[in-house]
Amino acid sequence: MNIEQITLVRTPQGAPIEDDFSVGGASLSAPIKGQALVRVLALSLDPYLRSAMSSRHLSAAIAPGDVVSGEGLVQVLVSQHPRMAPGTIWVAACGWRSHALLDATTIEQARPVGPEVQPPTLALGVLGMPGLTAWAGFKKLADARPGDTLVVSAASGPVGATVGQLARLAGCRVIGIAGGSEKCAWATGEAGFDACIDYHVHDLRVELRRHAPSGVDIYFDNVGGNVLMAVCEQLAVGARVVLCGLIAQYNGSAPVPLNPALIIRARATMRGLVVYDHWTQLAEMQVEIGAYVRAGQLRWREDISHGLSETPAAFARLMVGRNKGKALVLL
Ligand code: NDP
Repeated sequence: MNIEQITLVRTPQGAPIEDDFSVGGASLSAPIKGQALVRVLALSLDPYLRSAMSSRHLSAAIAPGDVVSGEGLVQVLVSQHPRMAPGTIWVAACGWRSHALLDATTIEQARPVGPEVQPPTLALGVLGMPGLTAWAGFKKLADARPGDTLVVSAASGPVGATVGQLARLAGCRVIGIAGGSEKCAWATGEAGFDACIDYHVHDLRVELRRHAPSGVDIYFDNVGGNVLMAVCEQLAVGARVVLCGLIAQYNGSAPVPLNPALIIRARATMRGLVVYDHWTQLAEMQVEIGAYVRAGQLRWREDISHGLSETPAAFARLMVGRNKGKALVLL
């Protein structure tokens, strides 16, 4: 069968642009024993893919000439594997393709998406990898107590917004950091954050002192760079810093040096988060966050593009922070 797919043409220099990718055709053979042919319903665009394109991520590198890897929501068309029945919907490592031939290893790692997940794209967002990142980072690493002041960056994205709302539900005071007034308005309006600082127009250090005069008890860092530096200057004694993301560096910017004096002064604890370490708790997270979502207590939003050929542009927008919510492409 003839399919469409997207190949990385060259390693992006700085922020990715559409010309770093090409849309082309390929043909797939019928599945043999152990394989399944799926159609891709939606692609998940995630910041880690940019690191993989520079061979700097724990996952496999994406080299020029490769079809871009990544997860998507897929529907089984033909199956020669007992785990996947035709018609069923899964999250699987399908890559940036219209259709994919999944091998046995990929099928064994795929996750079923039941009819209770509505819309099913939540399995790529708050009920998927980003949701688990937020849940594990907050529940397992942040050591939160009611009344703590929690600051989270990339506050309107799937990880940041979920962290902030879990913290609010746990009785914390939540301050977001986000790029732009619209993102901040969503964080405070829809997601119920107590405050949100638009670091594009405001002095982050001044605003942090204003909103957290007694210091920041928990900082959930999704970005690294200057934002991490600024928040570390405002840590309360006994603070916990969860290091989750480095998007300020993914496009190639040099790491910003962090003064250890800030950590010593606050007797702070910094812990690195890798979502893969928490994968066995995916179902537990889905039960908890799923209940919050169904009760309307946890809000989410999606930044949706349409059509495989729009994927490079959507990824380029994500990597300069122009997405508003979980970045997805519907096919
Ligand atoms: P988002 O949808 O939040 O998108 C990324 C956001 O990062 C942008 O919208 C932008 O928001 C912000 N940003 C800050 N600085 C920059 C910059 N220099 N360039 C571009 N964007 C910037 O992403 P996710 O919620 O999916 O992920 C959030 C972070 O968590 C990422 O760094 C990701 O890599 C990380 N992560 C880590 C995991 C782990 O296991 N450790 C697992 C999953 C995700 P704004 O405009 O508001 O600043």
